[in-house]
Amino acid sequence: MVRTAVCLVLSLVIALRPAAAQSVLRDAETEAFFREISAPLVRAAGMRPEDVEIVLVGDRAINAFTAGGQTVYINSGLIEEASTANEVQGVIAHELGHVEGGHAMRGGDAAASAQSITIGSLLLGALAAVAGAGDAAAGIMMAGQRAAIGKYLAYSRVQESVADASGARYLSEAGITGRGSIDFFKKLQSYEFRLGIPQDDEQAFVRSHPLSGDRVQYLRDTYSKDPAWEAPLNPKWESDFKRVKAKLLGYIARPEETLRDYPESDQSVPARYARAYAWHKSAYPKKATQEAQSLIATDPNDPYFQELYGQILLESGKPDQAMAPLRKAVAGSDNNPLIAALFGHALVATEDRANLAEAQEVLKSAVVRDNRNPFAWYQLGVVYEQQGDQARAALATAERDLMTGESSLALRHSDQAMSGLPDYSPDWLRAQDIRLIAEAQLEDDKKRRR
Ligand SMILES: [Zn+2]
Repeated sequence: MVRTAVCLVLSLVIALRPAAAQSVLRDAETEAFFREISAPLVRAAGMRPEDVEIVLVGDRAINAFTAGGQTVYINSGLIEEASTANEVQGVIAHELGHVEGGHAMRGGDAAASAQSITIGSLLLGALAAVAGAGDAAAGIMMAGQRAAIGKYLAYSRVQESVADASGARYLSEAGITGRGSIDFFKKLQSYEFRLGIPQDDEQAFVRSHPLSGDRVQYLRDTYSKDPAWEAPLNPKWESDFKRVKAKLLGYIARPEETLRDYPESDQSVPARYARAYAWHKSAYPKKATQEAQSLIATDPNDPYFQELYGQILLESGKPDQAMAPLRKAVAGSDNNPLIAALFGHALVATEDRANLAEAQEVLKSAVVRDNRNPFAWYQLGVVYEQQGDQARAALATAERDLMTGESSLALRHSDQAMSGLPDYSPDWLRAQDIRLIAEAQLEDDKKRRR
């Protein structure tokens, strides 16, 4: 009993301080939206959409940044501030300009550049702990991979001009108007010039992407000459954006804020979506369930409505009831690995041994197709352990350790796995690979400390 209480307090602290925890927020619908609106820009930048990742960071500061490689990080605060998908595309185009230019951020606090990122999810682990499903809380508390944090670093002014010019070129080639980009920059400028003390959170983008006075003018001149300037907004992207934003606000904002922005008189899909999260967060499971059920009544074939319903049931301690909607969500989303991992979690949470074989199958297919979900590896480890397969449980744990940057634990668990697996079998070879990677990482850490 005492242990449960301690665990609950810890996860609440993390859940209530997303900015401090710098959690990566994973949500199947949001990730699909980012992929869809960025694909034409990524292609215009000469890259392949499958190689570029847009990662949502749980931080209410308005910012977006790159940290080397082909990943663009977008803070939740930027989505809160944006009014259209087109504004977000303007930001993505600019960030892709930094990616294509291979721009590294400089300055700032060296230690801050290697801060850890925690893997979160769009529903709170704290609630899962309340409902007695402590495993979900463990998923949120696991330490994450290293990533530079844009807040403390800045691009040079030359890099900014290059990224602006590249971004404008991508928008033009993709036939997407630059109006949203201008609107977003104007918002940032109004914060910059606003009377009084500027809010730290509102200045983050401006600090990492120094704004010169003529920058907006340059962009306006460039965009307005482009044939795409008059192009209408894509209605599907815009309506998807409203859903994704509502969902995110429901998750991030205080429930009373959400209920003010999306009052019960508003029966639109985004409003019901946002309220489902607000009710769930404030422990009104009945109201949360009703909103989710009304969404399903609107469109029973929408996998994300089924996912929401299943997740609310699972986190309210009803894994048996969660299984049917989650099964539909997995099938309707072409086996999306994040939703599959959630379904696997529900199967494990039923504590019914008859569900272990299916859980194993579902989770294995999830980890193969998603390489940043330590929680799915954690669940798979639980399945193996309950099946009495200690070697594979150790291997799954080693995979999770590797993903969360716990090199010495990865070393120990891969050793355990190797000693229990047949020599040179595929799993044994994988354990050996993890061992080598973990060793190299420990060696790197040692060098860095010298
Ligand atoms: Zn920039």
